[in-house]
Amino acid sequence: MNAKSLARQNLLNLVPYEPGKPFEEVERELGITDVIKMASNENPLGPAPEAIEAMQRAILETNIYPDGDCYYLKQKLAAHLGVERNNIAVSNGSNEMIKLISKSYLNPGENIIMANPSFSEYKAAAIISGAEVIEVPVTKDLRHDLDTMAASINERTKIIYVCNPNNPTGTMVTRDELDCFMQKVPESVIVIMDEAYYEYVTNKDYPETLPYVQEGRNVIIMRTFSKVYSLAALRIGYAIAKPELIDFINRVREPFNVNRIAQAAAIASLESNHAAKSKQVNEAGIIYLTEKLGELGLNFIPPQTNFIYVDTKVNARALFQELMKKGVIIRPGDIFGMPTYVRITIGTESQNTRLVQTLKDCLEQLPSVES
Ligand SMILES: *Cc1c(COP(=O)(O)O)cnc(C)c1O
Repeated sequence: MNAKSLARQNLLNLVPYEPGKPFEEVERELGITDVIKMASNENPLGPAPEAIEAMQRAILETNIYPDGDCYYLKQKLAAHLGVERNNIAVSNGSNEMIKLISKSYLNPGENIIMANPSFSEYKAAAIISGAEVIEVPVTKDLRHDLDTMAASINERTKIIYVCNPNNPTGTMVTRDELDCFMQKVPESVIVIMDEAYYEYVTNKDYPETLPYVQEGRNVIIMRTFSKVYSLAALRIGYAIAKPELIDFINRVREPFNVNRIAQAAAIASLESNHAAKSKQVNEAGIIYLTEKLGELGLNFIPPQTNFIYVDTKVNARALFQELMKKGVIIRPGDIFGMPTYVRITIGTESQNTRLVQTLKDCLEQLPSVES
């Protein structure tokens, strides 16, 4: 019997995640050495010095299983957020949290509602659970269409994902829009607020969602140490929700899902000023890039994130290839169904300068296309 007939049938249409190309791979393939990756929204600063020290200490105890309860990290987070330890679950990155939530709450035949384009892992996790996916196109200004998302709820809807700010568009929904939306969502539906870029937001209309949790709503907030805390390689993120919702996540979670080095680094990062520093570099980068990309005549919406989503008016896949030949990796929008867009991670000052110069050179060689 072939694997196709052996596999769970709902997996046949599941496409494996295509990650941003690792810079090691590009250097190997092209025989160059100074490749910069501005494709996966990684923090260009590297980890906090405090985190590096904590990791070095933790390395000496890798023979011992990690604390499966993440006691000290949850204590630190609880104090940081103003919630209780039992409001928090920690995971091997937000990616694992999405799977844990799906395993905990999605039955086959139920559905999730999400924006399109948005974070593809919501869809993958739902399909694995045998659930259906209702995708609601973003508005003209590339924001979640919360009215249509609310109107799409039916008797089989279990989860709605609000990626705020949204990846890949970099846009956000406001407090008023979310409040209005939440009034339409029934108690039978769990709203997942994916706030991976929470710390980068500068718009004062950005909604604070903890009150929903404190009011007892069926809301799960997801945050991560991958972005503003520079710990993407360690895989660590967390969810905030009422204890009754957290309980089921803990039932499906593996006993030691978050490793010792990650826990130590996360605690040290929270004690450091790394988030503030990262935010500062990011804001300076956004000012520079929006000015320069504007001068190149490109369209974009000023982002609330550590990346910018840009309409290049050329074939983005071709542009991606040309940039890569010159050692700059970005993310082409065709994978999000928007073939003239690219997603560029905000880098350091020198990375941003190189990006702009290289982009200018490459754009001159490519023909415009209608978007
Ligand atoms: C980067 C990102 C995450 C973080 O995933 P991790 O598994 O924690 O690295 C989650 N959600 C979105 C929308 C992201 O862009």
